[in-house]
Amino acid sequence: MSRFWSGIVHNLQPYVPGEQPKAANLVKLNTNENPYGPSPKALEAIRLATSDTLRLYPDPNAQALKQAIADYNQLDVSQIFVGNGSDEVLAHIFHALFQHEAPLLFPDITYSFYPVYSQLYQIEYKSIALTDDFSINIDDYKQANSGIIFPNPNAPTGRLLALSDIETLLKFNVDSVVVIDEAYIDFGGESAVTLVNQYPNLLVIQTLSKSRSLAGIRLGYAMGHADLIDGLVRVKDSFNSYPIDSLAISAGVASFADQNYFEQTCTKVMTSREHVVKELNELGFELIPSAANFVFARHPQFDAAELADGLRKQGVIVRHFSQDRVRQYLRITIGTTEENQQLLAVLDCLI
Ligand SMILES: *Cc1c(COP(=O)(O)O)cnc(C)c1O
Repeated sequence: MSRFWSGIVHNLQPYVPGEQPKAANLVKLNTNENPYGPSPKALEAIRLATSDTLRLYPDPNAQALKQAIADYNQLDVSQIFVGNGSDEVLAHIFHALFQHEAPLLFPDITYSFYPVYSQLYQIEYKSIALTDDFSINIDDYKQANSGIIFPNPNAPTGRLLALSDIETLLKFNVDSVVVIDEAYIDFGGESAVTLVNQYPNLLVIQTLSKSRSLAGIRLGYAMGHADLIDGLVRVKDSFNSYPIDSLAISAGVASFADQNYFEQTCTKVMTSREHVVKELNELGFELIPSAANFVFARHPQFDAAELADGLRKQGVIVRHFSQDRVRQYLRITIGTTEENQQLLAVLDCLI
């Protein structure tokens, strides 16, 4: 605490990211990173960009990257916004689009950064309870709001909402923006990006951190109507002209050009997920159906925090959240075949 702090700083409750342990040899299944490395072509592009030209500022518009994302999604560049991780994109969305009279709506169980941004930008919000099986019931969102945001698949549940439900939501919620945070959409879901040209109130957010294995490079993007994108650009240009560095631009472009690698690694993760689900079921866990690169599981006979501790003692780290409704669940990232085997072997001993 310091008397030099601005008033708002005293009341902030910052987001706490999953641990990035210093110790090697841990089976790290706690932050939904991809167990496979980035595309070798992305790594090569970074090497090529590592040159004397780093003395220059990067392109403030990251035009090449926006073009690659636009082409990939059959959109126009004017419909793309890129940021330093989708977390930054989200921050700008909260700042640029959600500060209105009515409250912002998001689920009670969701990405825990949303309440943090709400607090930072002083946005009133209302959390809407997921149903008993952790589904989003879109009828619960039929109320005055300054915007609606949720991940699809949701985090940390992994549950996917059907695209038809998202379209229904867009149809009845025409007076504010609906933001679909698709951090995990490439692991089996159907993206709402196909609706962008029809619905000027839709913003779809994606990241290169999960399905493209580039969490360390920090790249995320928003896709939506050019007017929404313009609003985000105005905030971005009032905050940081160069959020995307030259290496990140090169890596991102190369990643989108390597469709084969992307498809192969996503398929591997999804195949492993089905295996992990089956084995966890056999150990007596109850799981929420997952369309993400993690599963959300509880065991009726064992306390989740104790299981997390037991796993940790054996070198496997998973994520446990202390929020009431989910405190008996573990969020477990899908790892390599070997990592998943270790997880299951340790659980087999603990149970
Ligand atoms: C991982 C994640 C993000 C953040 O992704 P970055 O691009 O790495 O900042 C955003 N939303 C959800 C739901 C996530 O799980």
